[in-house]
Amino acid sequence: MTAGIAVLAAACANAPGPPAAGAKASPCPAGPTFAWGADRATLWMRNSSEYRASSETLYRAALESLKKGLADPSWTAEPTQEGNLAALPPAVVMDVDDTVLDNSGYEARLLMDGTCFEAFPASWDAWVAERKAPAVPGAVEFIQSARTLKDPAGRAVRVFFVTNRECEKRPASDAACPQEEDTAENLRTLGLGTDELRMDLLVRGERPEWGGEKLSRRQVIAQGNRIVLVIGDDLADFLPEVRRQSVAERDLARCARDAFWGRRWFLLPNPIYGSWLVATGPDLTKALAAEPGVLQTCSRP
Ligand SMILES: [Mg+2]
Repeated sequence: MTAGIAVLAAACANAPGPPAAGAKASPCPAGPTFAWGADRATLWMRNSSEYRASSETLYRAALESLKKGLADPSWTAEPTQEGNLAALPPAVVMDVDDTVLDNSGYEARLLMDGTCFEAFPASWDAWVAERKAPAVPGAVEFIQSARTLKDPAGRAVRVFFVTNRECEKRPASDAACPQEEDTAENLRTLGLGTDELRMDLLVRGERPEWGGEKLSRRQVIAQGNRIVLVIGDDLADFLPEVRRQSVAERDLARCARDAFWGRRWFLLPNPIYGSWLVATGPDLTKALAAEPGVLQTCSRP
């Protein structure tokens, strides 16, 4: 979460003026408040049965796809995965923030507090340290059910969590990555603990080569596991490079893997933040006024 939001915030810091009629003047010296413009999206995730129905629908469909993928030993959700896949035990790869853990309460806090860009990193780390994020609707049931499933060779599904929560030391602790234990404990509290949870949680910066791009971490998982499903809330949870791409380029990347969506890849709605918003740019008024048309209907055989 952090990287995408930070890029957005940097962009928003230069955004022109308040976003909407009636908006309060920003208390922030560098520009709008951090969560500027996220009111309705945050309320949708917190208050709407529509969001609950949407994510539960997705997780039920994902479980059915997982069963199909388990039965087919050539099935993989990682396009770079090659070799004898039947030799590998099955796995699911999941993002954490707003895929498994629901951070809309944190977003509401940002909005209520009028948090400025400068105060964001500390406020985010404090939220992580609280370990109290609730689950995204349907996620706990999905993970618990997935772990009971086996492939035709009798090997159980292992769930890996690939998160861009970032390892960063805190003054009061010697731990190199206190955010990893915070996240693991938050997941345990929701009933998602296993003996291997810390091993199955791949945090940004945990190894020097693990940057914001998630591909290298999926490839580490793919060395020992057949990745049957990937689940996330951002195009960047599935595809490399899209954080640096334009709206049109990202959409071409989406269509290039059209056959994966809803079968091997499942993407949850997140209208609050994400690489989509970075690509949209800081001037939302200009983006609203622009003609649509760069998003396409993928051509299907
Ligand atoms: Mg996420």
